[in-house]
Amino acid sequence: MEPDLPYLGERHSRWTLWASLFARGLILGSLAIAAWFGLNALPDSINPFSPIELTSDVGALTNLKLRLLQPRYEACLATIKRRSISIERKEIVSTEKGCGMEKGIVLKQSPLIHGSQLELTCGLGAALLIWERNIVVPESEALLGSPVTRVRTFGTYSCRNVNHAKAGRRSAHAEGRAIDIAGFDLADGRKISVLKDWGKDTPEGRFLAQVHDGACSVFNVVLGPEYNALHKNHFHLDMSLWSVCK
Ligand SMILES: [Zn+2]
Repeated sequence: MEPDLPYLGERHSRWTLWASLFARGLILGSLAIAAWFGLNALPDSINPFSPIELTSDVGALTNLKLRLLQPRYEACLATIKRRSISIERKEIVSTEKGCGMEKGIVLKQSPLIHGSQLELTCGLGAALLIWERNIVVPESEALLGSPVTRVRTFGTYSCRNVNHAKAGRRSAHAEGRAIDIAGFDLADGRKISVLKDWGKDTPEGRFLAQVHDGACSVFNVVLGPEYNALHKNHFHLDMSLWSVCK
């Protein structure tokens, strides 16, 4: 019997090894499947692997996802077109130093009226449409009892310096990366104005505060009346690289 013992032992240890490897594989596989389903079950706003959609709830990752989408022009165009919003490609070539717009769009028709067809970068367009759909309209319904139907703007692309100064650095508007929002019109006819309603303890004032703060989760730069006197009548919403929320 003695010669058989080492043989049995070797066989036994080989089986133990295979069983242990199989068990480990099973555990790792289960964890991977659980992680995959877990991530898929997460809302887009907190799922780092899902691409941003205009319908995605605004959350902690919204701004980061928009920053990643911004340089990807074709993906950005597709994201907007998936929601049946009418846009056209737009490039502005300027002979002025620091002016001109690459990766731009003309926003021809969207769920809210803007008064005119906006010319802006695709990244800013996607951010604007997400802010309007997921923050502006729901907040107007919740706080004012009527949805916003029109966003009044002071414009997007403009070849100029910061604060319209004669000298100094170019504004984000000079590359189509910024939009100025002056107010909102509601379906029931009321008009909300940044100049008249900002800072007031009224439903209109609280609505403006909510949409301003909400913009900070979407856009890279948000400047309102608290920033300086030049912004007392509008919100400057901007997709430049740095982050400001004032
Ligand atoms: Zn501006």
